[in-house]
Amino acid sequence: MPEMTISFLGTGSGTSTNSAHTAIVYDCDDGTRLLVDASSGNSVARAGFELGIPVESIDTVLLSHHHFDHMSGLVYVQQARAQARPDAPPLDVYLTEECLKWTNQLCSCNPSIGEANQDGVTNVAGRQVVRWHVVEPGQEISLGPTTTAVCFPADHIASAVGWRVDSDGMGVVFSADTRFNPELIKASQGARLLIHEAFRTDEEKEHAAGRGHSTSGDAGRSADQAGVGELILTHLDTGFSREPQPLIDDAKKHFSGPIRAVRDLDQVDISSP
Ligand SMILES: [Zn+2]
Ligand SMILES: [Zn+2]
Repeated sequence: MPEMTISFLGTGSGTSTNSAHTAIVYDCDDGTRLLVDASSGNSVARAGFELGIPVESIDTVLLSHHHFDHMSGLVYVQQARAQARPDAPPLDVYLTEECLKWTNQLCSCNPSIGEANQDGVTNVAGRQVVRWHVVEPGQEISLGPTTTAVCFPADHIASAVGWRVDSDGMGVVFSADTRFNPELIKASQGARLLIHEAFRTDEEKEHAAGRGHSTSGDAGRSADQAGVGELILTHLDTGFSREPQPLIDDAKKHFSGPIRAVRDLDQVDISSP
């Protein structure tokens, strides 16, 4: 029976004042560890320390888009990793062409970086510390003995993508930031778990869509239409991190499977028959 542990290092929206920005670790059955989005600042290192996931143990990162609450922490992940493991191979980062432009600009602002180009990032000592892998939606990538990933377009900013990871036949989908997204429903068919952003309830649908985000009702509708086994709500704004029940109730109107909203440092074990 395949199993996976999912650790939520950051669960706050970009404007959250009480939660870290988005970062999730998947520990797959075949030993593959993936960081999905890199939060901001040193959140990955700090939350990882609390949960027994040393930042230097991360070798593979999947990025959804270039908003700073999802990717600016990458600089600290690579820096802490390179310091703790000076002989480690470069950090492998999977991202779109557009996201690469921005991450390279960000890395170029770091005085410990010598060069950031299309292939990767080299530090001032001449050592390659990051290897970029540009991906297109629909392109399957192999990440471990039984683990693959594929990205799909999100409806947020240009080139934003969500990610489906399959490990030993068990699918986990991360929506990324998105409005209600038919592409996500297609990509999530039969997944064991959908991790979906929820910015507001359906009462504020226009406001959420205007900001490029989903409601919890959208998340519930997507989970139902994709036929997933379970729904987790994340990327929560300050008020809903404190009191997520209205989001859960809103999603429940559309999806009859298990639903929960996560906070920083929550860990969820999933398995599949
Ligand atoms: Zn965001
Ligand atoms: Zn965003």
